[in-house]
Amino acid sequence: MTQQSDQEVSPPWDAARVNLTSKELASGVFAVMPDDVLAKDHVATTAGFVVGERSVLVIESMLNGDLASQLIGLVRQVTTKPIRFLVNTSYHGDHAYGNFLFPDTTVVIQHPATKRYMDENFEDDRRFMIGLMGEGKGIERVQARTADIAVADMVSVDLGGRTVEVRHFGFAQTPGDLVVWTPDAKVLWVGNMIQAPSPALPWLLEGRHKETIATLTRVRDFLPDDATIIPGHGRPMRPADIEFPLRYLRELDSAVRKAIEEGRSVEATLEAVAMHDYGEYSLFDWAHNMVNVPAAYHHLRDGNGGA
Ligand SMILES: [Zn+2]
Repeated sequence: MTQQSDQEVSPPWDAARVNLTSKELASGVFAVMPDDVLAKDHVATTAGFVVGERSVLVIESMLNGDLASQLIGLVRQVTTKPIRFLVNTSYHGDHAYGNFLFPDTTVVIQHPATKRYMDENFEDDRRFMIGLMGEGKGIERVQARTADIAVADMVSVDLGGRTVEVRHFGFAQTPGDLVVWTPDAKVLWVGNMIQAPSPALPWLLEGRHKETIATLTRVRDFLPDDATIIPGHGRPMRPADIEFPLRYLRELDSAVRKAIEEGRSVEATLEAVAMHDYGEYSLFDWAHNMVNVPAAYHHLRDGNGGA
């Protein structure tokens, strides 16, 4: 066993100590964020909801029943209209495990790859999430609930008097990443494809960083300059802020490529690709050294890097 796998990785945030708040960004358009979002460079999952004349669409369902109840409570503070739609931006438990707490009449929307993953791997995934977030955080009581509508490309949802678009721009962190766009308010929820603004870095948990670069570029090009982006674990940002993770990923790509050309092992690549300039991020060691460098190394060495 290597030294690294003996280390305890502490949870990125404590699920028992999250206090969600809502902020109205435009009429009827609310971002939901943990109350420490301005103080930290990585916080618990963000969410949101959009209120139309007839019904409400909620983005994300959080990690467990308690956090899902907090989120539903924030909706109920501003409207009694039914929550007709719920979108998960990925299969990650902190974005989708609270689905079971929503009413039976709520239509759950996921990408087909997200639905397939959750249908086939729920118990393994739950074990992984308990390992990451800790025991006794409500994950044990979560029940699997997956999509009623699977969206592979784009769907426009009518809430009465306003429409919301659910879109897939390509692989960014998982094969089934969805974003939610409100054209009238120009707000985009992106989930984990962007963790948080600078100094936060992407987490390449499934590798394929060349595709991440392509997808983030497409998202940036889609957005008007004055749009608001709600990242998966941080405060709101602007389209221009996408340049930071893009620059990091391009530098990672060229540095790891060079290390492979020099014949370095993955361990030697970690030394050569230290990228200390990005060390300000509180989760730098986890994201860069434990996840991203090995992911980029294997992606490029195994010949999938030309994409
Ligand atoms: Zn997340």
